[in-house]
Amino acid sequence: MNILLLGATGSIGDSVLSVIKENHSELNLFGITFHKNKNKSQEIIKDFKPEFAYVEDRSTFEDLKDTSDITFLNGDSSLKELIEHDDVDVIISAISGFAGLKATYLAASTGKKILLANKESIVAGGDLITARAKKFNSKIIPIDSEHNAIFQCLSGQRSPDDVQNITITASGGPFIGKKISDLKDVTKDDALNHPNWDMGSKISIDSATLVNKCLELIEAKYLFDLEESIFDLVIHPQSIVHSVVTYKDGSSICQMSMPDMRVPIAHALSNEHRLPINFEKINFNDLNLSFHAFPEDRLQIQKIAREVCNSGGHLGTIFNAANEVAVESFLNDQISFDKIYEVIHRTFDNNSMSKDVSIESIYEADTQTRIKAKKVVKSIT
Ligand code: NDP
Ligand code: MG
Repeated sequence: MNILLLGATGSIGDSVLSVIKENHSELNLFGITFHKNKNKSQEIIKDFKPEFAYVEDRSTFEDLKDTSDITFLNGDSSLKELIEHDDVDVIISAISGFAGLKATYLAASTGKKILLANKESIVAGGDLITARAKKFNSKIIPIDSEHNAIFQCLSGQRSPDDVQNITITASGGPFIGKKISDLKDVTKDDALNHPNWDMGSKISIDSATLVNKCLELIEAKYLFDLEESIFDLVIHPQSIVHSVVTYKDGSSICQMSMPDMRVPIAHALSNEHRLPINFEKINFNDLNLSFHAFPEDRLQIQKIAREVCNSGGHLGTIFNAANEVAVESFLNDQISFDKIYEVIHRTFDNNSMSKDVSIESIYEADTQTRIKAKKVVKSIT
């Protein structure tokens, strides 16, 4: 199976490469994309010898293009050709943030299997990405751990009407148990230090604010095409139960594994049989699982996510862009951690975008929202 890995130099990229390595007789890394990480991309090229490497950043492309006998690509039309290449069987969407929308949108029109990690493209692209994938028969399989869990728990169901509700679990992040008002002085290192997962910086901050779970609620609504009211969010600090589907006859089915992104990736990459990986077993002889209510002071942000689910249009684009600007501003030392919420709320309120969505209008809404959010950041600093 030939794999095109979008965002190969990131944390999800690492996990995918590890699964490929362990299953090299079945899986082949055909192509990679990345932004500008020279060292990491060169290591991957040396180890896996893909045929193509698409480099988003022009000057990095110029530096790399003659360094190896593989083909380096740059520019939107080359990206499109690579994504549509006849030899690509599976496309893994693992670029971080809104930057992943371009490639995910292209992938949705190929009719190929898409393994989706880049939740921001679903949140910002909303109806557009899933509708396009449906139209072109491109099958999206989630590798975000909660969504992959739901996907597995739903397989074998008789009818979508049988589902009573779906509980999406959240680790709670590094500040579990803390109120927003306790988080004024936390540092970047504190916020990036996730207790269970080792991830890229943007999603690590999203996990610390719990906005990640709000993005995941929207992601779930679109991927499974279910009403927002079916989904509950719950804190589960051990990150072992990755989500739970409760059926109308009272059965709750969950998927469990130690926190390791290679598990959902291996599942999503499997075809006729499950791909073996070297995983850490759950020690059922000494296992304490706990579940708590989502913190009350994050209900307001959850309400925004639910509004995005119910109203659609450009609201997902606006929510996502407001959050991306807020996270960047925190990482650039412009605002304190607790102000991330204020930036999102003030940017999201009173927007007046039309409900008709196209790829162009999504880019426009993203641009306008970033301008507004940056003004909010400026007013705070
Ligand atoms: P990382 O920050 O570790 O990696 C991001 C990847 O995207 C890198 O390959 C980077 O290239 C590339 N990239 C960044 N900006 C651009 C751009 N403008 N154009 C093209 N490529 C770009 O992110 P993660 O791997 O942590 O996350 C990837 C996605 O998966 C996110 O959407 C995240 O929410 C989701 N996800 C991640 C999980 C995890 O465990 N990490 C869990 C569940 C979901 P370069 O290195 O050259 O900058
Ligand atoms: Mg997740």
